Amino acid sequence: MIEFRNLTKTYGPTRAVDDVSFSAPPGAVTGFLGPNGAGKTTTLRVLLGLARPDSGSALINGVSYGELPSPRQAIGAVLDAIGIHPGRSGRNHLNVIARAAGLPERRVDEMLELVDLTAAADRKAGGYSQGMKQRLRLAGALLGDPGVLVLDEPANGLDPVGMAWLRQLLTGWAAQGRTVLFSSHVLAEVELVADRFVIINRGRVVREETAAELRGQGTGVTVATPEAVRLTELARQQGWRVEPSRGDRLVIHGASSIEVGQAAARAGLVLSELSAQAPAGQLEGMFLELTAAGAAR
Ligand code: ADP
Repeated sequence: MIEFRNLTKTYGPTRAVDDVSFSAPPGAVTGFLGPNGAGKTTTLRVLLGLARPDSGSALINGVSYGELPSPRQAIGAVLDAIGIHPGRSGRNHLNVIARAAGLPERRVDEMLELVDLTAAADRKAGGYSQGMKQRLRLAGALLGDPGVLVLDEPANGLDPVGMAWLRQLLTGWAAQGRTVLFSSHVLAEVELVADRFVIINRGRVVREETAAELRGQGTGVTVATPEAVRLTELARQQGWRVEPSRGDRLVIHGASSIEVGQAAARAGLVLSELSAQAPAGQLEGMFLELTAAGAAR
């Protein structure tokens, strides 16, 4: 569990993080979204004890980073700022972390295998591609088998295959009951994996929502039927609002997809399509609106 309570951090005149409160619960991937300069990295740096807040708190399982008895076993982080010594091999990089944290050496081999760096493990990390460096950082974060994972723009340097792999890993982690907080300025990277979204702009949280809430919001249920007139009539009798849509489809508001399907079945109406999906781009539109210049203040 991660909790931010009224967190504020200023750099001179800049309020990088301004009264931020939100939490990332266990068992879910929380997407932390915002344009460049919104305050994501600063928020995560405070959480990891790398920057001191002016006020407020950032807690991991109820305590601040400095109060964790074994930080590596509680929280793993993938931040750009995590230096990788170019002259050290990937294996050595992980060995140093493992030794400092008192973790068994076998974890190093396991994590190299997990991030697919076994073959390159003894090469100097300076020669690694951006994607390999990101995977090495991830291996470092996972060494202590922590229950909380924080990733700042992890997609940087990953190709689409690497991204798909990362999504699978994060989803699997959340399914095991761990806490995952994942920042990005690219909505598409987060949209496919996050269960919850926290949107930040100019240091302030402007929206916090679950994926289900977002998808259910006023989007309606899309149906296609050869008997549009009868279905329209039926929906109106139920008090639902009907709107025509692309390609002879209807969008029904005020009912769930199950209710629409059941009503159609009872009336013996054939449906060739029934979907509660939000039309593509819905989150994108919201994100752009919320983070447009000046939107937050
Ligand atoms: P994001 O990660 O969302 O791109 P950051 O947290 O990096 O945003 O930055 C938020 C704001 O704080 C920006 O205006 C940035 O210029 C400023 N900032 C971040 N770190 C520092 C620092 N060490 N010194 C001065 N200003 C900083």
